[in-house]
Amino acid sequence: MFIVKDTVVAVTYHLRERDANGDTIEIADAGHPFVFLFGHGQLLPDFEKNLKGLKIDDTFSFSISAANAYGVVDPEAVVELPVDMFADPDGGGIDSHVQIGAALQLQNESGELLEGIVIDISDEIVVMDFNHPMAGIDLHFTGTVLDIRTATPSELAHGHVHGPGGHHH
Ligand SMILES: [Zn+2]
Repeated sequence: MFIVKDTVVAVTYHLRERDANGDTIEIADAGHPFVFLFGHGQLLPDFEKNLKGLKIDDTFSFSISAANAYGVVDPEAVVELPVDMFADPDGGGIDSHVQIGAALQLQNESGELLEGIVIDISDEIVVMDFNHPMAGIDLHFTGTVLDIRTATPSELAHGHVHGPGGHHH
């Protein structure tokens, strides 16, 4: 059996920054493999492209550029906001959650919730970075295909995997 659309695939992977010598970002080992429904647009397109056609026990090693992963860093996504926006609702200055390094969700003009990281705080402004935390990072994956099976009709209907490594409902 090969990895094609509508298969449920289990892989181990070691995700590093940039290349095989980069810092580790994440590991999915055989005890906690990454299990997913292939060909349903839930993964980075380049990730699926590199796994397509592999069979059980095949190994893989490939890179995905930042632009094809979580995007390049957009300087316009770093914004200065007036400190009054972060007033503690109970009074007494700035909300205690607003600290350098904290992740906060803010609503934009169209009502969308955006998550950003506080990178600086002064008396008048709070500087927040709304870039994806992985923006600007080239990804390098190595791993092994552990299992491939045909997705069940209910998995295809739901668009996700059921059972081990997937949804339980
Ligand atoms: Zn389901």
